[in-house]
Amino acid sequence: MSPSNIDPNLRSWVDIPEHSDFPIQNLPFGIYSTGDTPRRVCTAIGDYVADLQILSEHGFFEDLELESGIFEQATLNAFIGQGLSKTRAVRQRLADIMDDDLEEWDASELRTFFLIPQSEVTLHLPLAIGDYTDFYSSLEHATNVGSLFRGKDNALMPNWRHLPVGYHGRSSSIVVSGTEIAHPSGQYLPEGAEHPVFGPSQRLDFELETAFVVGRNSTMGQPVSTDEANDYIFGMVLFNDWSARDIQRWEYQPLGPFLGKSFASAISPWVVTMDALSSFRCDGPEQEPEVLPYLKLPDSSSYDIHLEAILETPDGKRMSLCQTNHKHLYWRMVQQLAHQTSNGCNVRIGDLYASGTISGPDPGSFGSLLELTQNGTRPITLPDGSKRTFLGEGDTIILKGYCEGNGIRIGFGECRSTIVAT
Ligand code: MN
Repeated sequence: MSPSNIDPNLRSWVDIPEHSDFPIQNLPFGIYSTGDTPRRVCTAIGDYVADLQILSEHGFFEDLELESGIFEQATLNAFIGQGLSKTRAVRQRLADIMDDDLEEWDASELRTFFLIPQSEVTLHLPLAIGDYTDFYSSLEHATNVGSLFRGKDNALMPNWRHLPVGYHGRSSSIVVSGTEIAHPSGQYLPEGAEHPVFGPSQRLDFELETAFVVGRNSTMGQPVSTDEANDYIFGMVLFNDWSARDIQRWEYQPLGPFLGKSFASAISPWVVTMDALSSFRCDGPEQEPEVLPYLKLPDSSSYDIHLEAILETPDGKRMSLCQTNHKHLYWRMVQQLAHQTSNGCNVRIGDLYASGTISGPDPGSFGSLLELTQNGTRPITLPDGSKRTFLGEGDTIILKGYCEGNGIRIGFGECRSTIVAT
């Protein structure tokens, strides 16, 4: 299906602050509640959430033949499950309602009744996440990490340029932005020690990633091709794949990451649709050697998304740790989905597929402290002059992401998590 864009020239009667992530061209989907209102489907516009259930009760979606109660849900799964033609129609209708040229409805009547300031609501985990995979799709990240542990000459495993390496992660501990993360304990081998110990991780790290949300069930036994994959990708979120490097390093061979990853991952609350992102498609890195036919790359399947990770220390001081871009990713989302299903494994609505740490070519664009501090050997200097290698209790990591061009900014909001004592 070809993408459906909201007119870039459209302006809303809702006041949109400068540099807002949520103009009328974005209209992401999320789940909110207040003290009086149970969890419901909403969208973001400027500094407000718009309640889709209230609009529905007033008949604004009457002709769209949606299932009844589709907005009175604690997750987006049922809404997404109605299919792209319905979710697109809802998003287009929201744009019509908030268009400052609206003719169909009385603007003065519309102004306030379905908008609630974002500062007055709680945003929830927007999905019931069935399965979660984390890929390892940044050439720069894989090369940096491989160089640290195996030396520059053996940085990339022989398979790396032939398939998007990934592992099955844990969905039960994926939480929404704002959720506190308990400092994990685990087994690790201290530097130079002969025997492992059990205790709080000394090498707690973030990973700057994005993830895509599956919007359509596939059939077991039927692979999804790279050409078909776009029809299965509903939208994207920011993703912080929290990592305990000491636990990870001791446990990961031969079967891969386990408890060093599964204690927590965090996502941003708004699912930004692929439709909203479609005008920011671009060409990505060339793939050499040529991939096998089932991974054939369609044109312009990368996305130009600015990404940033910020550290907020316990005293409230902020420091940008890195800035990178989604377009640096070697393996594209359509290839990840094609590879995931190439053996006949099916995907389901609400599944989450994370990119892997997104690093860029220069040191300011490395998406983890593992890389930024060269495995803890080169501490970074904080604004107060103190040095830091990994993270500790009271530290907060904030991920941000947005696309910008032709006077339009499509953003993800933020993905924030604070480490607390257990
Ligand atoms: Mn990861």
